[in-house]
Amino acid sequence: MFYLDARRDQDGAVIYRTGDSLFRYPLSRDRKGNYRIKPGETLRVCLTSDFFLEEADSWRNEAWQIIRSRPDVIFFLLTKRPERIADTLPPDWGAGWENVMLNVSCENQKRADERIPKLLALPARHLGVMCAPLIGSVSISGYLASGRIEQVLCDGENYPGARTCSWEWVKTLGEECRRYEVTFVFCGTGARFEKDGRLYRIDSRRLQAEQAFKSGISFQGRVHPWRLTDPLGILLSESDLVKPEYAAPCERCARKISCSGCSHCVRCAMLEK
Ligand code: SF4
Repeated sequence: MFYLDARRDQDGAVIYRTGDSLFRYPLSRDRKGNYRIKPGETLRVCLTSDFFLEEADSWRNEAWQIIRSRPDVIFFLLTKRPERIADTLPPDWGAGWENVMLNVSCENQKRADERIPKLLALPARHLGVMCAPLIGSVSISGYLASGRIEQVLCDGENYPGARTCSWEWVKTLGEECRRYEVTFVFCGTGARFEKDGRLYRIDSRRLQAEQAFKSGISFQGRVHPWRLTDPLGILLSESDLVKPEYAAPCERCARKISCSGCSHCVRCAMLEK
């Protein structure tokens, strides 16, 4: 996170609300009055921060209001602080909003055992786990058996000082997910990848993603359908949702399983030069 923020000339330790144009972007419209974010698109929120930070308490209600206003868009929320979620959910959360997936990050077994039980204790329609960066072996069979986790994403570590990711750890996670029909996406090897006792240095993110794809371990598990609606609560059909756009490299990208198509942003690893 700190590395990514430094690349954007920002200090990752400083927590602030972004300006209205970014913060309220899901509600922004084009000249024709249509939302810029189309129905059916996925927004990953605060990926290099944390939606449930204490410092964000004062502006989280506004964020919930934006999410509530766009029941036609999927919001992917990631946190390291699942213990804060229950007390910060909106009053009308009920059994969970249909357009929100709550995710915890678990880089090793200790964090998995701390965070996943808290995630499973929450009312929610969609739950996911992100083992990224994977820096130790993680076994989550017991949690997958609940049938509530629908997706596990896994990636190695990148950037200067990256720690090693081992193929054995990835394989174990992938096999556990397959056993429980949970979608598993091995997004990338990371910059230091160990396989069969040999350490590989892979600096290119594109190559990391390609190697992960070639491993063939990613797969689509049981589908947990999204019930996206218009603001009046009327269920949207396939034809109402944006058709995903993919570029040629997407066909060699493991993330395609969980990617709603964002090739036009040209920022993902497979599309880097
Ligand atoms: S747009 Fe394509 S290359 Fe980028 S993450 Fe999605 S499937 Fe992968």
